[in-house]
Amino acid sequence: MINIILLGPPGAGKGTQARKLVEERGMIQLSTGDMLRAAMGSGSEMGKKVADVMSRGELVTDEIVIGLIEEQIKTAGGNGFIFDGFPRTLPQADALGQLLARNGASLNAVIEMRVDDAALVRRITGRFTCGNCGEVYHDETKPTKVEGTCDECGSHDLKRRADDNAESLKTRLMEYYKKTSPLIGYYYAQGDLFGVDGLAEIDEVARQMAEILDQQA
Ligand code: AMP
Repeated sequence: MINIILLGPPGAGKGTQARKLVEERGMIQLSTGDMLRAAMGSGSEMGKKVADVMSRGELVTDEIVIGLIEEQIKTAGGNGFIFDGFPRTLPQADALGQLLARNGASLNAVIEMRVDDAALVRRITGRFTCGNCGEVYHDETKPTKVEGTCDECGSHDLKRRADDNAESLKTRLMEYYKKTSPLIGYYYAQGDLFGVDGLAEIDEVARQMAEILDQQA
């Protein structure tokens, strides 16, 4: 069982690669962003609490996301976890290490997806996803074959995220550089850090990731 973290700024391709790993390796994707959006969609108290913070592009509290991850680690079984968008702060990284240890597990690799900011603006502002199956599209680089219809599942429920706009992206990038990028040093020091070229084609990034994962097996 391999447990990995995908680390990188918004738009680096974490979700896209995580979905491939789920399909190809039967791993479990734990995306705190998806969990928070689901909480908002369900209208729960927690969902209401985080909605404004998320739409501005700021981070929600460590306590909330650590709670979400803890629940999942305890209950989900499978072929290893892909932490996607978690941890995003040093206290979250410490908490994850402790949670895994308590469950008799550990981290195998932290994969940093390296990209440059100009590419992120283009990627994020053109992004939309299928609300039914989660497939990710882009206006220019990956449009649906038939307008308004998901290629994978045929759903017409195509959505844009409230925080995928230039203004919120600016805040999300600031949050990333201030609070999340210190994790690169943290995991480098633990000897767990690997890097891939996040600007390469989706399949090439997947190939580079596979190489790293196969070294861990
Ligand atoms: P994502 O889908 O990973 O881009 O996350 C979307 C938004 O959810 C972020 O901009 C934050 O507001 C919130 N969020 C997701 N994961 C975390 C986390 N680990 N820590 C704090 N906030 C998070």
